[in-house]
Amino acid sequence: MTQFSMGAFKPVADQVFVAVAEPAAVNIGLVIGPDAAVVIDTGSSPAQGAQIKAAAESFAGVRVTAVVVTHGHYDHLFGLPGLTDVPSYGHQSLSGYLDTTAAGVAAAELGVTLSELTIPQHLFHLAKVIDAGGRRVEALHFGPGHTNADLAVYIPDADVVFAGDLLESNGGPDFGPDCFLKDWPVALDGILGLLTENTVVVPGHGPVMDRLTAFSQRASIAGFYGLVENLLQRGIKLEDAYSSAEWPFDEVTIRAALPVAYAQLAAAGVGSRRQLPML
Ligand SMILES: [Zn+2]
Repeated sequence: MTQFSMGAFKPVADQVFVAVAEPAAVNIGLVIGPDAAVVIDTGSSPAQGAQIKAAAESFAGVRVTAVVVTHGHYDHLFGLPGLTDVPSYGHQSLSGYLDTTAAGVAAAELGVTLSELTIPQHLFHLAKVIDAGGRRVEALHFGPGHTNADLAVYIPDADVVFAGDLLESNGGPDFGPDCFLKDWPVALDGILGLLTENTVVVPGHGPVMDRLTAFSQRASIAGFYGLVENLLQRGIKLEDAYSSAEWPFDEVTIRAALPVAYAQLAAAGVGSRRQLPML
């Protein structure tokens, strides 16, 4: 049985808090304004979403009046039905997400009923300003990366960015089959452009990051793409790939990412470079 649980809200900036929800150790954000609060991401089941709403309102002492879903993966989206009566926001590409095989598989594994799940009510393409009871919260899409529906959530007055799973500090990023490996660094450039020396970056999983760490992870993701491109051009097969390069992430991350990277680069036409014949 999957164990669902949730830790306490801990401060990351002025009236901005993060709680960790299991089973996926996902960071749940809470932005408290003078008269209302906004929740970022919803946990892995409707019951967990309800628990998050109750805990957030009890902690904040004000109502939760909006929830932002940073992308469609189960640990961020599947709690949404539990945030009853709370207006919800997400990227346009979430439309139809619950009909995908991936969503069905995740629901079955968690023991969550797929037909109970919902996508956010308010979908948008690029940017949305959300009022946290007198406080400005901006949800921003910088293009495809970890998925096609990634949002960053920026709280300008606190100098905090929630990056969703575009960044992770529990091990390396999650390069799933629905990622956009080549575009990912470009999406991160949108986030990096927001950062000051003091910005607190909250990744989708793991402890907060500073600007330097976020830049470094962007470079590592781009570097990973470049290394795989090089291996393909040299004709190195997938089964020999891991031992053929020095990688910028841990072995678990790379071994999971390599088949995805090989498939995506091959589909993009990257292959063995033929040498010209000697005359
Ligand atoms: Zn994810």
